[in-house]
Amino acid sequence: MSIEILPARLANQIAAGEVVERPASVVKELVENSIDAGANRITIDIERGGHKLIRIRDNGHGIAKDELTLALSRHATSKLKSLDDLECISSLGFRGEALASISSVSRLTLSSKPAAQETAWQAFAEGRDMAVQVQPTAHPNGTTIEVKDLFFNTPARRKFLRTEKTEFSHIDELVKRIALSRFDVAITLTHNKKVVRQYRARTPEQGTDRVAQVAGKTFATDAAYIESGAEGLKLYGWVLPCGDSGNSQYTYVNGRMMRDKLILHAIRQAFEEQMGQIELPGFVIYLELDPRQVDVNVHPAKHEVRFHQARLVHDFIVQAVKQAVFMPEQSALSTDVHSDYV
Ligand code: ADP
Ligand code: MG
Repeated sequence: MSIEILPARLANQIAAGEVVERPASVVKELVENSIDAGANRITIDIERGGHKLIRIRDNGHGIAKDELTLALSRHATSKLKSLDDLECISSLGFRGEALASISSVSRLTLSSKPAAQETAWQAFAEGRDMAVQVQPTAHPNGTTIEVKDLFFNTPARRKFLRTEKTEFSHIDELVKRIALSRFDVAITLTHNKKVVRQYRARTPEQGTDRVAQVAGKTFATDAAYIESGAEGLKLYGWVLPCGDSGNSQYTYVNGRMMRDKLILHAIRQAFEEQMGQIELPGFVIYLELDPRQVDVNVHPAKHEVRFHQARLVHDFIVQAVKQAVFMPEQSALSTDVHSDYV
């Protein structure tokens, strides 16, 4: 067999295998892009569990007409210029792959208008070379990405899609995790044209409202508040030692949602040292550390990180949790929780 360079679409479809597992992964990538674009209002419209339509609208800084083509190309990003940047990355994205990958396995259109540009433009990629077409459209400041017929051209992937209800519940859970990562961003989630969640923008002081809305009022009223450490290595959040915590287990590293084994292990250890074998408690925990101390480029979907000083971070978390939960003079969470359910 001779060696040949893969056509763009095929190469992108292969890359999509790593990041686009199901509709919820599309939502994750697109909402992270909106947050990176500075949006403080994001609307997520889903139809048929995302099988039919995923539409994300934001009021972020938009994409200029002459950059639309690049935005849809693989390895094109505005967030990273050098390896140095990668070592202290503050944006959620940096791989420049999401839009190209998603658009290779769906019918994707990108519409955008930066505030400084008078008219809005729409772009989509066609054919095996994914040539980008650009045409005028009507759109307010910000960006809308519409993803239709996910996996229509990749039957192997489509086969793994679950029912509408299951796929939507993955999306709902993902949106909860994002909602807890940025209290200041208003997020609306609709399914089949009905509003399912409405997270209003909150100040840090009103953060418990958001926590109550996502993790439940019981969690928000009963959880112990943790705050430990200082600039460089800091942890804050809420832990509910016992009682019904549901599956409220949320962890964030520098604003990025994670299911990191080291953090989970540290929380478990803090409890086991005090109480013996128990079920993992409920928690919403934010770890903030020097970006140079953590490598986020470990997993294509960025579910995990690598800490340079893993032992130190681990023991710090154990101590912080023990102190907050088992030394009761620590401040409890404010009970002033308002309801904001739809
Ligand atoms: P990455 O996020 O890793 O840079 P993506 O493929 O997700 O790669 O996006 C490519 C580029 O398109 C981004 O770097 C950004 O410049 C632009 N972009 C994507 N989505 C948005 C958006 N919602 N608002 C503004 N710019 C966006
Ligand atoms: Mg991205």
